[in-house]
Formats: sequence, C-alpha cells, structure tokens
Amino acid sequence: MAPSQYRSGVPDDWFVDPVELGVPGVRPATAEETALAWQSDALCAQTDPEAFFPEKGGSTRDAKRICATCDVRAECLEYALQNDERFGIWGGLSERERRKLKRQAS
Ligand code: SF4
Repeated sequence: MAPSQYRSGVPDDWFVDPVELGVPGVRPATAEETALAWQSDALCAQTDPEAFFPEKGGSTRDAKRICATCDVRAECLEYALQNDERFGIWGGLSERERRKLKRQAS
C-alpha cells in the first residue's frame, strides 16, 4: 500500500480477518499468514481503528491504553519493527517511539 494512503486515515489492510488466515489443518499457512497469526487476538480489532491511526498531532492515549492490556502486544511490536511500519500505534508505541527503540537496539 502506498504510504500516502496511510496519511489520509486508516489503511484498508490494518487488520487481517482471522477467517482469511485459514482454518488450521485445512491447508498449510503461508509465511505471511503465519507472521500475522497474532492478529486474531488483537484487542484493537474489537475497538475503533481510528484511535490507532490518529491524525498528525492527535492523541495516542486511548490506543496506548488498549495496547497495555493486549495479549499480543509483544508480537505486534515485533512485527511492526521487523516490517518497518511507519504509521500508527503498534505494540503500544508510536512511530517516533519505535524509531527510538530501533536506534537504541542498533
Ligand atoms: S498491541 Fe495494540 S496495536 Fe498491537 S494488536 Fe494489541 S491492541 Fe492492537
């Protein structure tokens, strides 16, 4: 997806429907499906996605509060770091916080 689409709001593919991830045993999951399997337990999937992709300068407090109680926070953050996700709140961290974390790790 082109980055410009992120700026105008919530990206179309921000959440992958668990049904589309495949029923276990029916067929082997692809590498991409396996990498996104944690999304079936994503707490943000049950809430307003707008909170996770605030406009520039918008509040991230509500999204971070949800992330703090999410069971797949670690997987989410790891995915975002590995895939260099530039926009939105992932694993409880903003874009800037993820960049800082990456700098500290290198
Ligand atoms: S950590 Fe936050 S952004 Fe990631 S799946 Fe959980 S609620 Fe969603």
